[in-house]
Amino acid sequence: MQRRNTYQRTVIYEILRGTDSHPTADWIYEKVKQVIPNISLGTVYRNLRVLKEEGLIIELNDGKQSRFDARTDNHYHFKCTNCERIYDIDKENVVDVDVSALKQSGFSVEKIDITFSGICNICNVGEN
Ligand SMILES: [Zn+2]
Ligand SMILES: [Zn+2]
Repeated sequence: MQRRNTYQRTVIYEILRGTDSHPTADWIYEKVKQVIPNISLGTVYRNLRVLKEEGLIIELNDGKQSRFDARTDNHYHFKCTNCERIYDIDKENVVDVDVSALKQSGFSVEKIDITFSGICNICNVGEN
């Protein structure tokens, strides 16, 4: 049982690592079914939760649905309000956030979680 759970989790993790599209659980479920046909959506959710608890993946919630990301280094996101794609934005590509005022007020910042939203470069050139 334990071994089976580990196998399922590995398959789910590898599928998520193979994409940078920040997919939904439903999308992951469809992919996992191609490898493990009898897996249930509930099992996929459960394994995603464990992977998140283990710090291997992060969950992005846009208020409507959860999206998942196997990239766990500190990076930002851009969400297109037109096509709903989510892009990784490297911190180097945007102005660094100044947390010195927070530090002076006694806050310890461990993570900066920023999601930009707007129209992505693909939608802007009308190729959507
Ligand atoms: Zn777009
Ligand atoms: Zn990401």
